[in-house]
Amino acid sequence: MREYKIAAIPGDGIGPEVISAGLQVLETLAEQDGGFKLSVERFPWSSDYYLERGYYIPTDGLERLKQFDAIFFGAVGALNVPDHVSLWGLRLPIAQGFDQYANVRPARVLPGVRSPLVNGKDIDWVIIRENSEGEYAGNGGRTHRGLPIETATETSVFTRAGVERIHRFAFELAAKRPRKHLTLVTKSNAQRFGMVMWDEIFFEVANDYPDVTTDRELVDAVTTRMVLKPQTLDVVVATNLHADILSDLAAALSGSLGIAPTANLNPERVFPSMFEPIHGSAFDITGKGIANPVATFWTAAMMLEHLGEKAAADRLMAAIEQITAAGVFTPDLGGTATTASVTEAVCKALAQQVKKAA
Ligand code: NAD
Ligand code: MN
Repeated sequence: MREYKIAAIPGDGIGPEVISAGLQVLETLAEQDGGFKLSVERFPWSSDYYLERGYYIPTDGLERLKQFDAIFFGAVGALNVPDHVSLWGLRLPIAQGFDQYANVRPARVLPGVRSPLVNGKDIDWVIIRENSEGEYAGNGGRTHRGLPIETATETSVFTRAGVERIHRFAFELAAKRPRKHLTLVTKSNAQRFGMVMWDEIFFEVANDYPDVTTDRELVDAVTTRMVLKPQTLDVVVATNLHADILSDLAAALSGSLGIAPTANLNPERVFPSMFEPIHGSAFDITGKGIANPVATFWTAAMMLEHLGEKAAADRLMAAIEQITAAGVFTPDLGGTATTASVTEAVCKALAQQVKKAA
């Protein structure tokens, strides 16, 4: 029996609600499959934990996480901790410490879901976000606090190694898709150094992938293209900040932030990769039992695929699509379902698949 060790970090807000739902669905899948087993350990690292102890991740935390095959992450962020403290306390140390440089964000309008776009069905994108450097490298400083000359810098960092590996990753992924099209997102008109190198290296790497067609778009212009001509995009590669913003737009255009998944990959598999819904803690709906768990289920499917359980991942996606087609929606999608009822519906759809196959 294949066995995978999963580190679950539910975190804050609706994180624990959606991660519990995700684990329930994963357990159901593993039981039905019979070919693999998941051994899950839950880590209590959260903002409450931080407020009690002064740290999110204990000193040996990353060493412990390293033993796992994958990390299943909820969300971090609380009203009583500044966001930059929570983000840099929990999520970024894992993503950076494990060199999860490729952030993969698929966007698609699931059956039955209504896009705010009339031509929403044309959305079938994968946004690749550089996840280790760029604008979020953490390179900056602040001096003369409170004085009129107070100064702060936030310097983007682009390295040849970092830029080349994300472009190569994007080309590899684009080459495996039916349309084999990759769009380079940039801002090299206004930013003359890092962004110009970003473009140059893209076209160097492109020489190794003659089958992949490419184009280049400025980040501001690509937002209009996402809205007005969604069918012209396939795979998109963008910097840490740009892709962060574009992927929330992609999620909204696909129907809701509550369905959008993401994978933070260490493609070389030296370290475990981390899988999470792209949404945050969602304070406004925490504890109400109405968080949409679909983003987390889709995330779980990406995790299974990464672990090599493609058949189970496909079954999970089929079950998700079956319940969205049937209109089992939480309020963010205009329905009245709860986290629990959506989870039950997906488990039931999985059980039906097994019956059909038998
Ligand atoms: P958010 O994603 O938490 O919420 C934005 C809006 O989307 C809210 O109205 C929320 O109710 C809705 N929403 C989000 N997920 C949903 C779901 N599954 N089902 C239904 N509705 C959903 O973003 P925000 O309000 O900007 O941030 C809140 C907190 O989360 C902040 O502390 C922020 O730093 C943190 N955050 C964390 C992550 C992460 O852990 N990766 C990502 C984004 C934001
Ligand atoms: Mn974001």
